[in-house]
Amino acid sequence: MKVNKYPIKKTWSELIQRPVIKREQLTEIVAGIFDEVKNRGDQALIDFAEKFDSAEIKDIKVSEKEIEAAESLISEELKAAIQEAKSNITRFHASQIPTIEKIETTNGVVCWRENRPIEKVGIYIPGGTAPLFSTVLMLAIPAQLAGCEEMILCTPPDKNGNTNPAILYTAKLCGVTKIFKTGGAQAIAAMTFGTENIPNVYKIFGPGNQYVVAAKEYAQNYNIAIDMPAGPSEVLVIADENAVPEFCAADLLSQAEHGSDSQVIFLSTDEKILDETILETQKQLEALPRNEMAAESLKNSHFILLDSIDEALEFSNLYAPEHLILAVNNFEKYIQQIRNAGSVFLGNYSCESAGDYASGTNHTLPTNGFAKNYSGVSLDSFVKKITFQNLSEQGLQNLGKTIEVMAEAEGLFAHKNAVSIRLKEQNERI
Ligand code: NAD
Repeated sequence: MKVNKYPIKKTWSELIQRPVIKREQLTEIVAGIFDEVKNRGDQALIDFAEKFDSAEIKDIKVSEKEIEAAESLISEELKAAIQEAKSNITRFHASQIPTIEKIETTNGVVCWRENRPIEKVGIYIPGGTAPLFSTVLMLAIPAQLAGCEEMILCTPPDKNGNTNPAILYTAKLCGVTKIFKTGGAQAIAAMTFGTENIPNVYKIFGPGNQYVVAAKEYAQNYNIAIDMPAGPSEVLVIADENAVPEFCAADLLSQAEHGSDSQVIFLSTDEKILDETILETQKQLEALPRNEMAAESLKNSHFILLDSIDEALEFSNLYAPEHLILAVNNFEKYIQQIRNAGSVFLGNYSCESAGDYASGTNHTLPTNGFAKNYSGVSLDSFVKKITFQNLSEQGLQNLGKTIEVMAEAEGLFAHKNAVSIRLKEQNERI
């Protein structure tokens, strides 16, 4: 843990750095994996499963029998929890379905926009260190609501070559039945090129480690769209004198336990709260089953004392965290100042895990500073927005001159003529 009291602004650019593997190094590894999958298809996936997941796989595709069997392998309590989360996530994402609004921009000129689903989508469900069945809800629910026709799911197998039953159960509940046992960059390559068993898709979604993120970026060279760079998790907590150190420590550790390359940042305006949160974090860390991973991640983390909440928000906007928690009094008054963040949690009782699992918002969010220019996954991520327009005869008469003048000024006479020829036809007819 790195502790900094009142760091001068000149040092902030250092403090906002993430613990990432060098980009060139990652791209080289990913390019090699893409070549293998392109040339050797399923056999390359089987070989990579052995190399990276220590798993012996016979069939890349999860069988119907395996999907059916999953239901009996998970508890009724977990099924009920998944169901409740599904209902909240569905309600929140269904509220994002737009109503079509037709706008008459000039008399007789009507423009509007309609959503069309992306026909073929691929969802990546992380499974390297923890099988994130919650991510199935976060991706399959908006895809279903958007009306995507084909959805496939890739996730790394466990050491026995199996897929986690909670992932299978949740996938079936959300209408996903094409599930493949492949993870990492090779899964992204498979969804990019297609293999004997895995169909290629038009857009790839889902979070993952640095290899997955680099592979999604690389897939864009092959005209594949991606949701966003959603890599190793992060949280930034801003705490004033009313924050509860036990709560803050728990929130910090909830992201630190994701992986050794996760990063957590704690900003406080109160020295006592800062010191107590550090102690509490160390105490709670001991009791965590994944404490080794969390301890590694804490080495990259910063506990910082600042002068004011305004200054903390300035730092946060520069860092652009995936998750931002405002554990401060009167948080309402600071909402407008938040410019860069993936998802925000307001007040002492809004723990970040609520958004990870069940409150309704999406947990697939931009990391590594990309909250400056990307949004998290939403219904919009699964659709294209097509614009429509209809010009009546009167509409063209009203707008025609403007178009002709602009086209002529750009030297594009065929553009101008497309208007002139119609206006001439109208004049001759009338
Ligand atoms: P993962 O499924 O993302 O990655 C596992 C795969 O990585 C393996 O199957 C393997 O193919 C590949 N891999 C591992 N070591 C490799 C190597 N040396 N070379 C090439 N490939 C290698 O699972 P994970 O590792 O547990 O990571 C999940 C990540 O997802 C975490 O970093 C977590 O923080 C992040 N996450 C992000 C969000 C978000 O919205 N940003 C949400 C949830 C989770």
